[in-house]
Amino acid sequence: MIINGNEVAQNIKNKIKEYVVGLDRKPGLVVILVGNNPASEVYVGYKEKACDQVGFYSEKIILPSDVSQKELLSVIDKCNQNDLLDGILVQLPLPKHIDENIILETISPEKDVDGFHPINAGKLMHNKAHLRPCTPKGVMTLLAETNIDLVGKNCVVVGASNIVGRPMALELLNAKATVTICNSKTQDLIGKLQNADVVIVAVGIPKMIKAEWIKKGAIVIDVGINRLEDGRLVGDVDFDEVKNIASAITPVPGGVGPMTIATLLENTLEAYKDRQ
Ligand code: NAP
Repeated sequence: MIINGNEVAQNIKNKIKEYVVGLDRKPGLVVILVGNNPASEVYVGYKEKACDQVGFYSEKIILPSDVSQKELLSVIDKCNQNDLLDGILVQLPLPKHIDENIILETISPEKDVDGFHPINAGKLMHNKAHLRPCTPKGVMTLLAETNIDLVGKNCVVVGASNIVGRPMALELLNAKATVTICNSKTQDLIGKLQNADVVIVAVGIPKMIKAEWIKKGAIVIDVGINRLEDGRLVGDVDFDEVKNIASAITPVPGGVGPMTIATLLENTLEAYKDRQ
């Protein structure tokens, strides 16, 4: 089965749109972009378009790549106090002279729709999270919508970043799976993958995961988005080969990517409801 992230994401957006029609004040999201990283510009464009589609109020703030940390913090402070805004998202990565942790900690936890604030990250660890990081939460929705039961399953997460791998592992643990998290120093990655019922990959290496590493019938979720020199987008999984071994697999594009955006809208609506 090829898991259709576009379809699940569209259903989520349709439900949000229906909900928003009857509201006096629309949920509001601001996306702050620093510099002109082409990939970030594309992602911010998707987020803006998605807000329009569901009828959210949205703002985009673009700051030059040499903006000072102090200036960026003051922009965030103003957004924290702006009652029209329920969600604040600072597009990552940030230029090297800016301390990402300080920026993320300055966003009000109630408006932290990316779920990266240490308070929200800590709540996820305690299985009490409200605003959960969009990509891992989107993967959980995709698995649930595909009727995949995670209880007691051996899940291997390849990649351990703060924005995908780590929160992904916690989500799976919270769902009562047995979780192995791998990073660049993991030994015998192939042996671990060959025992996995569910494999989730977020590394950033095109087509890294090969068919012979995957157990027959496993579920494979590919978070990776890599642009090849010829312009094609591919994931971290060798999709054409692995799809013959897996019982279910996400494509790239059209798998996890649209779920991240739909989940951002869901989180913004949650933040809105809490603030009402
Ligand atoms: P990242 O911050 O670069 O983290 C990559 C992780 O992979 C690190 O934990 C790294 O280990 C690990 N890793 C690197 N080489 C490895 C190897 N050979 N074996 C096992 N683990 C290895 O990347 P990220 O931000 O998590 O993003 C990962 C991918 O997901 C990228 O392609 C990105 O574009 C994509 N992404 C997609 C979405 C979406 O919506 N679909 C959202 C976010 C990211 P160390 O910790 O040891 O360095």
